[in-house]
Order: sequence, then C-alpha cells, then structure tokens
Amino acid sequence: MENEAVSKNFIEQFIDKDLEEGVYDTVHTRFPPEPNGYLHIGHAKSILLNYGLAQKYNGKFNLRFDDTNPTKEKIEFVESIKADVEWLGADYEDRLFFASNYFQQMYEGAVKLIKKGKAYVCDLTAEEIRAYRGTLTEPGKNSPYRDRSVEENLQLFENMKNGMYEDGEKVLRAKIDMASPNMNMRDPVIYRVAHMTHHNTGDQWCIYPMYDYAHPVEDAIEGITHSICTLEFEDHRPLYDWVVKELEYEMPPRQIEFAKLYLTNVVTGKRYIKRLVEEGIVDGWDDPRLVSIAALRRRGFTPESIKMFVELCGVSKSNSSVEYPMLEYCIREDLKLKKPRLAAVLDPIKLIIDNYPEGQVEYLDAANNLENEELGTRKLPFCRELYIEREDFMEEPPKKYFRLFPGNEVRLMHAYFVKCESFVKDENGKVIEVHCTYDPETKAGSGFTGRKVKGTIHWVPAPYAIEAEVRLYENIIDEEKGVYNEDGSLNLNPNSLQVVEKAYLEPAFEGAKAYDSFQFVRNGFYCVDAKDSTPEKLVFNRIVSLKSSFKLPK
Ligand code: ATP
Ligand code: MG
Repeated sequence: MENEAVSKNFIEQFIDKDLEEGVYDTVHTRFPPEPNGYLHIGHAKSILLNYGLAQKYNGKFNLRFDDTNPTKEKIEFVESIKADVEWLGADYEDRLFFASNYFQQMYEGAVKLIKKGKAYVCDLTAEEIRAYRGTLTEPGKNSPYRDRSVEENLQLFENMKNGMYEDGEKVLRAKIDMASPNMNMRDPVIYRVAHMTHHNTGDQWCIYPMYDYAHPVEDAIEGITHSICTLEFEDHRPLYDWVVKELEYEMPPRQIEFAKLYLTNVVTGKRYIKRLVEEGIVDGWDDPRLVSIAALRRRGFTPESIKMFVELCGVSKSNSSVEYPMLEYCIREDLKLKKPRLAAVLDPIKLIIDNYPEGQVEYLDAANNLENEELGTRKLPFCRELYIEREDFMEEPPKKYFRLFPGNEVRLMHAYFVKCESFVKDENGKVIEVHCTYDPETKAGSGFTGRKVKGTIHWVPAPYAIEAEVRLYENIIDEEKGVYNEDGSLNLNPNSLQVVEKAYLEPAFEGAKAYDSFQFVRNGFYCVDAKDSTPEKLVFNRIVSLKSSFKLPK
C-alpha cells in the first residue's frame, strides 16, 4: 500500500510504540478459537489480522484452541478450523497449541493466588453470587466466605480438584473489589466444579477455569505480546491485567480490542447457523449460502479475495456492518483476469442456422480471456445447431434491445453474424427454435469491415454441449428483515437456492474438477462444487454474477 507510514492502523501504532519503548522486543500474536463451531468470515478477519501483524513485524503467530469448556467442544471442529486457517494462508508452522494442555499451570496459578490472599473458595450458589454482585449503580456485597484463611482455601480448592463436591457446590473466586465500578472486577469466579469428560484431558479434571482467568494465562504461557480480541472484551481488560500482574509474569501480554466484522443482510451468528444445519435447511456447515469459511471456499471464494476484503474493511474501534456486495466485488476483482471466460447457457433455446450445411463443423479460435492473453486460446466447434440464452431472443423487442429478434442481425461471439429469419413455438406458445441465416464473410478475426451490428451473444454448439447442473444462490436469511417469523420459525428466503437442472456448456469445460472456477461469459463466476460434482455430472455453484451496482468506498 502507498503511504504506509500514514495508513497504519491503531493496533500497529500501539505495537510501534511498545517496540520503541522497549516494552517488548518482538511481536507474537495468536488466533484463539473455541472449537465449538465452524469459523466464519468474521474469524477470517481475526486470523488474517493476527497473522498479518506477525508477518509484518517478523514475529510469530500461534494457532491456539481455547478448549477450556468441555461442554460444547468437538474434535470435528478442531479439524475444520485447522483446515480453514491453513486455507487462508495463515501459516502457524509448528505452533499449534491447546489451552487444555495448560490445565496444570492454570491450577498452579490459582493456588498461587490463594497463597497471596487473592482468591477464595465461595459456597454461594450461582443465584446468590448474582444477587451479591450488585448492579451498575449499586456496589456489590462481600460474600460471607470472602475471609476464609489461606489454609482453609487451599484445602477446599484441593477438595474441589479431588472431586469431593457436586457441580456448582463451590467455586474459586478472585478477591478483588465488590465495590468496583467495573462489574467484572467484583470477585469474578475463576474456577468451577464440572464433572465432565474433556475431549483432550478426559476425566483428569473435574474443575475447569473460567475464560477471563484462563485466557490471560494461556497468552502469558505462550509468550504472546499482543493479545488481540474483539470489543466486547474491553471491559474485561482490567481483569486480564489483574491476572497477569498477580501471577507475576515477567513479560505480561497486552490486550488490544478491535471491532467485530459484520456483514449486512447475512447471518454469521453460530446460533442461527447451527439451527439451519440441525434442521436440515442447509446442506451442512459448508452449504454455499452460508458465510462460514468452509462455505465460502465451497462456493468458490479464494483466500486472496477474502484477504482483499478484510484489508478493505480495515481495523476499527467502533462496530459497523460492511455491505455484502463489497465481498462480491473482491471475488470479481480476484477472478476476472485469472479465469477463462467460457460459454454456458442456463436457459436454452435452439438456434438453427438454416444456410449452414448439415453435418459440417469448423473449429474457431477463441481467446480464453480477452483481457489476459496468457490464458491462451481454445478451439470452439461451430455447427448448424446451437444453444443460446432464451433472454437473447425476443419476439417483440422493446426499444434498445439489440439482441435477436425477427429481422435483426447480431454477432455470435467468436463466430459469424447471424440474422433472425423466423421462430417456432410449441403448443403453449413458448418459443422453442430460432431460425437464422449466417453470413460467411463475417467470421470473427477475418478482417471483415462491412456493416456493423450492435449486439453480440454467446452460444454453445448443441451436438458438443456438456450438460451440467448449476446452482444459483441468494441470501438464506436477511438479518435486516428479521431472522424469525412471529411463530418462532426462521424467516427464510424461498429463493435462496435455485437449481438449473440442465445447463449446456461448451466442450472446453471437459475435465473441470472440484474448486475449478470459470467465468460463464456475460453471466458470472462459477465454481465446480466439491461435494456433489462428478466427472459424469458436473455441478456448478454461482459465486457471483457479473453485474453490480457496488462502488468501492473512497
Ligand atoms: P461467535 O460469536 O460467532 O460464536 P466467538 O467469538 O465466540 O464467535 P471464538 O472461537 O471465541 O468465537 O473466536 C475466536 C476469535 O475470533 C476471537 O479472538 C474473537 O474475538 C474473533 N472473532 C469472532 N467473531 C469475530 C468477528 N465477527 N469479527 C472479528 N473477529 C471475530
Ligand atoms: Mg467465544
């Protein structure tokens, strides 16, 4: 980017200052997902931000699973998250960590706090703790167990660890200040009893640390310098700082918050997506209508396009939503010069060239991408019977319609001029054939300089056409229009998936494989579906159409 010195974001400015002042002599970031679902576009922002900073400052980047809560976590999610992070190009090398491997250190930290008189075992119920906590306008009340001796606390905490209590019977709390204006500082719970099997540590533990205690410890153990998280943790920062200070880490990490990424008209919340998946409304977490990273990949988005998008969004301190069309802009920009532009007809009608000899075929040279010669050329068979898009013919055209209508002449892309002579309808009045004559003098590339035509349309040679299924997508739930109906059901867009059972593709599509993408000329960008496409029956996802009213913000 130009003007790099000026365009540094606020996180980079903090880091520069820390390095200048010698607070840290290196930059070490991490991405700390909880393995309780698939990652989405918002997480991509966090991944690329953290990884990007490590790159920029020649530092290190960790992938750390924040797996301290045994209830919701699954191995399936660990694997999908690793795949997504790798696909985005955030190379964590051998720095893959699991917070659950630090349970012993976290436990020892808690013992240390008790010994310092900074933590105590409390017998209040969850409800009582809430009641004692006070409100934003009133201070809280001290727990009656707050002044237990260090010895008693050590014994009780050990009993907690040894499984002597039921879930919820006792907790360990930090001893901070029940009158603090910051509710998070009112003696927060830092350990709870939970008799649950953990996906990594099995039944080794029946006490588990709370997020606000565990997270700073994880960061400190790994030598993280800048712990970047989202805005809702701003009020938790004093507690983060308290934990790393009281545990006396030599190089305490520093928390910096930024605003979450939200997209307009698109659902990102795990809760809704989970419901869509569980109710079978979508085809799994990678259904191309979702904005999980797996879904974007399946739909045909590229890591480059997501990176471009995240960079355009920038890093900010205030919550806002970004328009979905900006994401579409990025994928168009990324693909437009990289991918071949081939002909596909989604809603076919037959075009018959009456003066072209039956059985004859010629192979025309066609550039694969007019804006990028490097993509080469292909041979396109041309013959008497072609398919064209239904919308490229009109019996009674409106003004400014320059495509085919009776008596009008157009160019067939890469081929000849054809003139519409007549058409045939079926018994329902639907047009099924358009009859034309062609002018052999007008072959593309022949230097023909005679009359001009205003319209160019694409076509597929009927006898050589490949049949394919094509899936067209719209948003499944429009968050702005309301996620739920009055009866509690999800407010679904009935057109979110439209299937074209039989589209016709030109022969150059032969051999297309999973994740290959193309421009369907004059239409949009499409990607071979990785789940359902087979060599016998190709299935394409529409990534994005060519048309857009989106303008890049200045
Ligand atoms: P969700 O709210 O969708 O369940 P989460 O925040 O609970 O997401 P985590 O696995 O805890 O999911 O998040 C891992 C990291 O990703 C955290 O550092 C979190 O701040 C960041 N993150 C989550 N959502 C977004 C978002 N929309 N934009 C940017 N970063 C995000
Ligand atoms: Mg979370």
